[in-house]
Amino acid sequence: MNQYIERVLNATKAKNANEPEFLQTVEEVLTSLEPVINAHPEYEKAALLERMVEPERVIEFRVTWEDDNHEWHVNRGYRVQYNAALGPYKGGIRFDPSVNLSIIKFLGFEQTFKDAMTGLPIGGAKGGSDFDPRGRSDAEVMRFCQAFITELYRHIGQDIDCPAGDLGCGGREIGYMYGQYRRIVGAAEMGALSGKAVSTGGSLMRPEATGYGAVYYLMEVLKHDGTDLKGKRIAISGYGNVGWGIMQKVAELGGKVTYFAGPDGYIHDPDGVDTKEKLDYILEMRAKDPMHCAPYAEKFGCEFVPGQKCWGVKDVDVYMPSATQNDVNLEWAEKIAASGVKYYIEVANMPTTNDALALLRAQKHMVVAPSKAVNAGGVSVSELEMAQNAERLYWSAEEVDEKLKGIMKNIYNASVEVAERYGLGYDLVAGANLVGFQKVADAMMAQGIF
Ligand code: GLU
Repeated sequence: MNQYIERVLNATKAKNANEPEFLQTVEEVLTSLEPVINAHPEYEKAALLERMVEPERVIEFRVTWEDDNHEWHVNRGYRVQYNAALGPYKGGIRFDPSVNLSIIKFLGFEQTFKDAMTGLPIGGAKGGSDFDPRGRSDAEVMRFCQAFITELYRHIGQDIDCPAGDLGCGGREIGYMYGQYRRIVGAAEMGALSGKAVSTGGSLMRPEATGYGAVYYLMEVLKHDGTDLKGKRIAISGYGNVGWGIMQKVAELGGKVTYFAGPDGYIHDPDGVDTKEKLDYILEMRAKDPMHCAPYAEKFGCEFVPGQKCWGVKDVDVYMPSATQNDVNLEWAEKIAASGVKYYIEVANMPTTNDALALLRAQKHMVVAPSKAVNAGGVSVSELEMAQNAERLYWSAEEVDEKLKGIMKNIYNASVEVAERYGLGYDLVAGANLVGFQKVADAMMAQGIF
C-alpha cells in the first residue's frame, strides 16, 4: 500500500478506535485511492487525506420532548458537517435507535464523495438522532422534530447546510422540521431543508428519486453487457421508500422484483411485484407495521421464508441490497458468489462489510457496483429541489426525471472512464471512489490549506 495512505489510515484508526462503521468506510475509500495518490505527490504536502478524514465540524446536542402521556424524553441529536469544498453541506437526517456518532460520521464521509460524484455544487454532511419514530403518534413525532430543529436551526441554512431525509425521516418529519425552521428564522428560506412536500416547495420526483436513480444506473450496467431490464428478475432487501421506488421503476421497464426481504424474513413472488395493487399494498403494509412483510405472502398467495435473508437465491439476475448498512457479511457474500448471479448492485449506504465486498469484487463472473454511486439519485433530486427553491419555480416531473437520468448516466460513465484511465479495467467500485475523491481534492487544493 502507498505509505502516505497507510500512515493516514493507521492514524485514523488510532484516533477513532471506538467508531467501527466510520473506520470501515475510511478503509474502503482510502485503500482504493492508490493510483491517484501515486500520481499526485503534492497531496501529501498539503495534508489532503488527513484533512479529508476529519469532519469540518461535528455538532452534538440534546433533544428533549414530551410524549402523549406527558412524560419527558431526552435523545441525542447529531449533525456532522463533513466537507463543504464543493458547496453547502448536504445530506440526510436518520432517526433510528442505532444512530451514534460512528454511524453519522460514516454516512457523512460517504456522502461527501457521493455528492461530489453528482457533479452538482454540494458538500457532504449527515445528521440524525437515536430517536425511534416507530410506534409514536403524529403529535409525538411533531414535538420531537420541533425540538430537534430548535437546536439545529442555528447551524443550517440554504447557503450553509441543507438536511434531508434518510431512514426514519421522511416527508412528514421534514415537513415538521421545515415548519419549525421557518417559524424560528421568520423567513420562507425553502432551500434550508429538502425532501419537503410539494405543497411547501418540495420537488416532484424526490420520493422516487433514489429508487429510480438506482434503476437508471442498473440500466447502464446492463447496456454495457449488451442487454436491458426486460425479463430480468431482481432480489432486493428493504421495501422502504428506496425499495419501493425500485419495484415501481423495474416493473415499468419490463423487469420484475421477485424477492424482497424485511426485518421478519423474505417474500418470494415469482410473478414479481408488478401491479398497482401490489405496490399500493406494500405502502399500506409498511404504514401499518414496518417490521413485518409476511402479510404480503398471505394477501397474494406466495411464499414467505421467516427469519432469513434472500441472499444466495439462484433464480434471479440481479441482487440489490437496499435496506441498511452491513446487511451482507462474508457468510452471505459466499452464498451470493456461489449462486452464479452476475450483478451485485449496492443501493443502501454501505450494505456490504469490507471483507464481503472484497470477496464479491474478486469474483470473475460478477459485476459489483457501489452504493455511493448507485443511490446518488436521491441527493441529486434534493439538490434540484434547492435549485427550484432558489429560482422560486417548480419544474415538471418529466424535467426532473430527465435530469436525474442524465446525472446517473454521467456518474456511471465517469466511474468507468476513470477506472480505465488508471488501468484498473471495468471496476465500478474503485472508479466511483476515484471520481468523488478527485472532485473534492481539486476543490480543496484550490481553496488553500485550512
Ligand atoms: N439520505 C439520502 C442519502 O443517503 C439523501 C440525502 C439528501 O437528499 O440530502 O443520500
